[in-house]
Amino acid sequence: MPPEVIATVADFCDLQSVLNLRLTSSELGEHAENVLDADRRAMLRHFVTDAEILWEHFENYGAVVGGLAALSFVLRDASMLPDSLDVFVTMDQAEFLEQMLDEDPDLDLRLTGTVDRGPSQDFITPRHTSRVATFLCPNGRLLKLCTLSTQSVLDPIVVAPTTALMNWVSPHAFGCAYPTLTLKRRALSGSISAYAPGVAALYLVLKTHGFERMRSPWCWPEYAALVPPSKRTWFKPCLSALFLCPQQGRFFGDEGSLINVFDLQSTNHDELRTLHQPPYGVSVGWRLWFGGQRGCDGHCKVRDPLLPEGVVTVAAVMVTRRIQFRATFVDPRADV
Ligand SMILES: [Zn+2]
Repeated sequence: MPPEVIATVADFCDLQSVLNLRLTSSELGEHAENVLDADRRAMLRHFVTDAEILWEHFENYGAVVGGLAALSFVLRDASMLPDSLDVFVTMDQAEFLEQMLDEDPDLDLRLTGTVDRGPSQDFITPRHTSRVATFLCPNGRLLKLCTLSTQSVLDPIVVAPTTALMNWVSPHAFGCAYPTLTLKRRALSGSISAYAPGVAALYLVLKTHGFERMRSPWCWPEYAALVPPSKRTWFKPCLSALFLCPQQGRFFGDEGSLINVFDLQSTNHDELRTLHQPPYGVSVGWRLWFGGQRGCDGHCKVRDPLLPEGVVTVAAVMVTRRIQFRATFVDPRADV
């Protein structure tokens, strides 16, 4: 097949196919990178005229995009782009980024309100946030800048109400916590009430876009079929080999996650590490926090090699492909 035909086909491939294509040849690899870069720009052009300016600000202050916009990116499905863009920034950078977004005339954003976290906040508002500043975009859509109560911009992503939203896009890289599920439009949602504010609407969006949503990974029998059956009657077989066990300690960079950079050729990983840009800098280790999960017959709950029992997230510093842990700082205003 001629390269130009393959290149055209790549435009309609899923993310994993595009990532595979970039490894085949320099010519197709370049086209694959252009496809990814176009997706990255298109995501922000849904909100502002000049996506690069907004990406520059996010780079300068270490912010990442999450929520439905990041899901839209990993699924390469522009129809899922929401009317509101979730942006996460740590508290030490938030004030500067908020001011920059408010004052940059090229972006033409208008700050319409700020909400400091209170007891009435709904489930859909990203957890682990202490403040949300809402900006009105020129096209009428919204940008929600979420100031975090932890040190990692990836922390609120892994405590999203469903695995479908556990994705992020930064100026240089992107990540998906559960690609085995998400890229197949499958999602775990635990036992959060569908009647909680905001959650019903989110579940409806996922259903509309073909997502199958379950409370546990054992609801899909093909995953359990890939591991030895449990010898203990009351336990489920451990799915940690598939990185799908709910109690399993996980981090962006393990074999069950998908992380990748936009530009393989010129992205300098040492520089990203020095600048603390995701996936480097302060990252996060996590296990699924939502309740209702059955225990496995493995070591995920009490003897997980990554997380102690009961710990849901912990700030972690990525060093090459290994990970080191530091204590998580949680702002006293945060109640989760
Ligand atoms: Zn397990």
